[in-house]
Amino acid sequence: MKKCIWCSRNDHDVNFNTLAHTFPQSLGGKNICLNVCDSCNFEFGKKQSFQPSVDLAVKEIFNLSRFLISDSKNISSYKRFSSEYFKVNLQRRQINIKMKYKLQSKFQENFARSFKRGIYKIFLEERERICGDSHSEEFNFIREFSRYNLNDVPLYYLKPRYPILLIDQEQLDNPKLHFMESDLELHRKYRLYEFYYGGYSYLLHTNAFMQDLHINKYNAEVVLKNKNSMNLSTLV
Ligand SMILES: [Zn+2]
Repeated sequence: MKKCIWCSRNDHDVNFNTLAHTFPQSLGGKNICLNVCDSCNFEFGKKQSFQPSVDLAVKEIFNLSRFLISDSKNISSYKRFSSEYFKVNLQRRQINIKMKYKLQSKFQENFARSFKRGIYKIFLEERERICGDSHSEEFNFIREFSRYNLNDVPLYYLKPRYPILLIDQEQLDNPKLHFMESDLELHRKYRLYEFYYGGYSYLLHTNAFMQDLHINKYNAEVVLKNKNSMNLSTLV
């Protein structure tokens, strides 16, 4: 029996006919989460006026970071880069928000919110695909935020200190998350999950409680102690 990790309905009540790509297919995502019903899957792809869908926000931001780390000598491979929301100058490596969106009040705020919801959505679907435990009540705060657009959950990213970047081509071609012992340890100790994509590390909360305490502790004990580490920033 299938049971949707987002709305908790099962295949007696709703359909599970469409493929729910954990990472957007347009980014090369090939992995499918089987326990996502059609209406929840549709919701993540639904575009609102002047606001990107959750899936599109992830695609746009991840495409931009791929573009920024691309080798300038090999820039022809990114010639096809196109964006609904951003004006990109390949030669100068400049990125600007298109005028019609720039004038829209709260555009950046809404865009960032869709992106954050998308990152948490990927986490929960990948976790279900790999560990099969996303129905756990511990993750209710992610359901409320990503699926129902309620509350707010912080997302952090680690900015590289130096422009020397590690490019993991396999991760770019078929993005996926991992849940290894070190990832489970990070959850036990700090209630966090970290993954690397396109030159940045992203940090998510895996529990709704005492989030400030956990992130501050992680920053003090891990990020700041490591000389080669990146700087921790919060996405608004
Ligand atoms: Zn559902």
